[in-house]
Amino acid sequence: MILFHLAWLHGASATWAADFVIYQKQAKKILPKVGIENQIYLPLIEFLQMLDLPYSESISAGYVNISVGKSTIKLTKDKATVQVNEASVGLLAPVVVAANRWLVSPDFISKVLNRVLPEKIVIGGSGNRFLIGPGSFNRFEVKGVAGQQRSIIVIQMMAPAEVQARREESKVTLAFGNTPIDSSKEDYQYKDELVNSIIFEDSSTATQLVVQLADKTLQSKVTHLPSQKVYLLEVTRQTSATSGPEGVIPPAVAATTAQNRRKWQHITIDAGHGGTDRGALIKEGLFEKDVTLAIAKRLRWGLQSAMGIDIVLTRFTDQTLSLEERAQAANSAQSDLFLSIHVGNWSQPQESGSYAYVSKLTSLEDSTSEKKDESDKVASIRFVPWEQAQLRSLDWSTRLAEILQAEMNRTLNGGNSSPTFRYAPLKLLSSLAMPAVLLEIGNASEPQFRNTISDPQFQNSVAATILAALEKFRPLYEKP
Ligand SMILES: [Zn+2]
Repeated sequence: MILFHLAWLHGASATWAADFVIYQKQAKKILPKVGIENQIYLPLIEFLQMLDLPYSESISAGYVNISVGKSTIKLTKDKATVQVNEASVGLLAPVVVAANRWLVSPDFISKVLNRVLPEKIVIGGSGNRFLIGPGSFNRFEVKGVAGQQRSIIVIQMMAPAEVQARREESKVTLAFGNTPIDSSKEDYQYKDELVNSIIFEDSSTATQLVVQLADKTLQSKVTHLPSQKVYLLEVTRQTSATSGPEGVIPPAVAATTAQNRRKWQHITIDAGHGGTDRGALIKEGLFEKDVTLAIAKRLRWGLQSAMGIDIVLTRFTDQTLSLEERAQAANSAQSDLFLSIHVGNWSQPQESGSYAYVSKLTSLEDSTSEKKDESDKVASIRFVPWEQAQLRSLDWSTRLAEILQAEMNRTLNGGNSSPTFRYAPLKLLSSLAMPAVLLEIGNASEPQFRNTISDPQFQNSVAATILAALEKFRPLYEKP
């Protein structure tokens, strides 16, 4: 007779995380974890029924026999050795019967069942989640960037996922639907001034990440960056007494702006290339560097007269400038916005058109790639240091790019609404601590465009397009 206690754990215990989660044919089922002394057990018969495997058992005679095709598995009560056809396989703990229930240690799946099943059961990195049938688990990592008035929680998915965000009181829920999700942690042990906890909750009806905010007056907003498989949860504290209509204008503060200042004072326009770096050849004696400078100057004039703000150019002349020098100039001037002007140069004519680019942040995880141990992955999502600068403004950069793209589609792309802004791992943008977008106007490899881009009238229309976009973006960003 063994001494035992049964624990039906439903997140109540800190030592043992929730239950076993079994994904099968788009459905999700839960089997309780049974803890006896220091061992976790899986209810065997329920699991065999899910797998639809024939078995016979007798508690009084102390055996369970399972048939898997032509193979036979024999388990004996209180024994850690299992017979699989002619072989003996040792489990971490003896097979036990408690409260008339057959229980096996979970390594029964990997060591015994997966040895004979025609289609192996996929075991999640957490060891608590099993996938029966085809498919694989999607995983995610969570990283928080804390600020005094603003925190950003980065949820990096390993594969594309549809996530539904919901806000109730002081709780933000990101629901993953029915796709198999594996989380290596239940509690992310994250806390900052605005966020109390980040917990992964798994039940038969929900798979979700629950972010508990410090209080219910905080504003929250979720942005999906599909090309990066990233969800950004931005949590902000409303400092001004005049709060806008809820959910319409988030009171995000760019990292460089002082606490309550959200007025544009200073915008940096960067004319791409320059000096020895000539950029694309437009035509005989005319290079991208010349065209970008011409557009930048026209834009400066237009913005200054229309908006009455300080517009600074990274260069006024045909000057060689490194990317670092351009970024540093804007960062040290605490610019409120950064726009870099370029001319596209695509060999494929179908790439023609004008596009806005936003920084694609690369986590270190991406470069070291797939086959790392699950436990390593948890800690390894870190952004390289210079990318931290843009991370805080990325949400605004994305909105600005969307508006610029829509405006360019209307004018420069001939009313074609299908082009969307793009993400690119551009070091220049990533090191900027303010909303930052790079524009590529047209395609220099198209003979017809080479005449267009050098026409002052066209350059004026580019400047007018950018001005129209900034006029739309300004009220979203600025706060009285
Ligand atoms: Zn360029």
